[in-house]
Amino acid sequence: MQNLIDGKEYSNILLNKLKEKIKELKDKRLPKIVIIQVGNNLASNKYIKHKIKSVEKIGMLCDFKKLDENITQKDLLEIIENLNNDHIVDGIIVQLPLPNHIDSTVVNSVISYKKDADGFNPITLGNVMLGTSKIFPATPNGIIKLLEWKNVEIKGSNVVIIGRSNIVGKPLANMLINKSATVTVCNTQTKNTANIAKKADILISAAGCANLVTSEFVNKNMTIIDVGANFVDGKYCGDVNFNEVQDNVKLITPVPGGVGPMTIACLLENVYELYLQNI
Ligand code: NAD
Repeated sequence: MQNLIDGKEYSNILLNKLKEKIKELKDKRLPKIVIIQVGNNLASNKYIKHKIKSVEKIGMLCDFKKLDENITQKDLLEIIENLNNDHIVDGIIVQLPLPNHIDSTVVNSVISYKKDADGFNPITLGNVMLGTSKIFPATPNGIIKLLEWKNVEIKGSNVVIIGRSNIVGKPLANMLINKSATVTVCNTQTKNTANIAKKADILISAAGCANLVTSEFVNKNMTIIDVGANFVDGKYCGDVNFNEVQDNVKLITPVPGGVGPMTIACLLENVYELYLQNI
């Protein structure tokens, strides 16, 4: 399809570039990521499998720790502290969601900003807001890279983001503001989201709500980025009713094969950058 933004294609280009850089390290220590999972969330199992496959593809080192879902927050934080102090670990991620008894905000602030592969630490996020960071939350960064790859003008454009989470909507809004976009961020209390969305040049949906974005939300000149990762009747889909809107917009990302693979590529770019700062 002509108006499709193929995240899989671009993520492969980025991963191959990383692979070349890692090959050039020759006798030096290789970059290493530690992935922590607490419990056995089925979607997390799938995402982690993809991450490990990409890590192996580019020749990075990976340690996967699958922890019992009843582990206490204190014990989890102790594991993270030990990894913070391990010089040969460059990046740490704790896969979300976590069980209810563990506070992800606390976990993200305990992962040192020097090993913050996901870009969720408050220091990283502060620097992202100020426009001084070299590490970015992976999903927002993947979205911006996709837009730039397809020469979608960000400067001066009207961007509507549906969703204000700390890991997607809020950092993405700040990153786009730093690139001189005019940004509107919607949440569940927003009145008439469809009307607001319809005027956008770029619509980014990160609500986690299948079939939220219908033809009422779009216009012919719009670029749509679908961040949603939803399971409906066992089928993986985004927030956008793809069949309904695909012919009525300029560019659109599919689910799967849009933002998801870009998130992994940007996550590993973060690990490589952290490695350069750590070595
Ligand atoms: P979240 O639940 O933390 O936040 C969702 C946000 O959307 C909230 O701010 C909420 O107010 C808003 N929202 C929900 N329904 C809405 C509606 N009908 N109208 C307006 N606003 C609405 O979720 P998150 O962690 O930001 O993730 C969002 C979605 O993106 C999920 O489906 C998640 O699985 C997916 N995701 C995908 C990737 C990827 O790499 N593809 C990465 C991160 C998140």
